[in-house]
Formats: sequence, C-alpha cells, structure tokens
Amino acid sequence: MKRDDVFEFFRRLAEANPSPETELEFGNVYQLLVAVVLSAQSTDVGVNKATRALFREVKTPAQMVALGEEGLKAHIKTIGLFNTKAKNVIALSETLVREHGGEVPADRDALTALPGVGRKTANVVLNCAFGAETFAVDTHIFRVGNRTGLAKGKTPAAVEQQLEKKVPQPFRVGAHHWLILHGRYVCKARTPECWRCPVVDLCAFKAKVLEKGAKPAGVSRERAPAKSVRKAPAARG
Ligand code: SF4
Repeated sequence: MKRDDVFEFFRRLAEANPSPETELEFGNVYQLLVAVVLSAQSTDVGVNKATRALFREVKTPAQMVALGEEGLKAHIKTIGLFNTKAKNVIALSETLVREHGGEVPADRDALTALPGVGRKTANVVLNCAFGAETFAVDTHIFRVGNRTGLAKGKTPAAVEQQLEKKVPQPFRVGAHHWLILHGRYVCKARTPECWRCPVVDLCAFKAKVLEKGAKPAGVSRERAPAKSVRKAPAARG
C-alpha cells in the first residue's frame, strides 16, 4: 500500500472512532496487565465477565498474592487455559511485589521478563497504559495487515515490523486499536464485510465481499495465521 493510501486508511478509521480504546475492562495499570494476560486465546467479553468481581476484590499485586492461586482460579474458571493463566498471574504478581515495588514497569524488557508476559502482551500494556507507539499483532491485526496490503508478513513479528515502518503520525498510538476493531467488526475472518468497509477502495484483498449476503470467495485459501498467534499463552502471552 502506498504511503498516501496508508495515511488515508488510518484517517478514515480515526474519523469513525476518534478515541479508540481497548474493550477490556480495568481500573488501573496492574488490572490491565492481568486482563491482557487472561485474554490470550479468549474473548474480551469473556474476560470482562470474570474480572468484574475479581477486580472489585483485587486491585494490587499484593492483594493478588494474598488471594492465592486457588482463589484466583475460582474467579477465572470460565476462561480458557485458566489453570496456566492463574499460575502465571500469581507468579507475575509475586515478581512485581518483589522486584518492582508493586508497580507495573513501563519497559518492554522488564514486562517480558514477567511470567506469562510475551511481546504482544507487553505491547498492549505499553500502548494502552503508557501511550507508547507499539503494535501488538493479534489474530485480527495479522489478518487485516495481510489482506489489505498495509503490513504483509508470514509471522506476527514480520507484520509488527511493517507496521512500525509504515504507520504515520498522528496515528501511531491509536493504530493498534483501530486495526483490532476493524478486524473484529468489519474485516471479519470468515466473511469480511467489504460492502460497508470505509477503506474498501484502498484495500488490496482480491476476494472482497461487496454484497451483503454474498458468499466469500477465496477466504478459506488465506494463509493461516502464524503459529505463534495461536500458541497457548503458557510460555509467552
Ligand atoms: S475491503 Fe474487505 S477485506 Fe479489505 S479491509 Fe475492508 S473488509 Fe477487509
């Protein structure tokens, strides 16, 4: 996608949603970190259902440590992979208490050193909590980047690199939200709703669905997201 078209792409998404935000619910940076760790391989809606009661009770890493692994499991058992996630959340909370004075560090290396926190999770936290220009490539961004030609790549890391290179100001902080929301609600995996897409004329996807109710052609032949998008969050979220 040409440089002018990339600008226009984000200008239109920004016009439709000037203040994009994560759909995860949280009250402070620590709760955001926990919510993002819990959201791997799960929907934001499912995570929010589980964390509403949890976050009324637990607002700090110390309170999470006091709750303990079994107590946490009781709150999050509706979320996929909850056993591993509970273990990671308790371990990362212990590390925050022990090594960071109970605060979430605004530093990618320090974040990815926490149990269960990978580059994607760190990028989300840095972006949503600290306003950093990071591009957390999840399954939606991977798909939208490749379909549109905005950021092509065989792996999330390659797509992230392309976004780093191509997304212009003043869209760099909001880009990750706009792309996720666009992928979640318009450029859907099975049937992209190209007939109502605000960037249809800029998009390079060949199998556009230009009529509501029409069958998508060629979507099933798309390259599957790279393995690391789908892997369990046990090692790296
Ligand atoms: S035109 Fe279709 S494939 Fe392209 S970004 Fe819009 S919804 Fe996605």
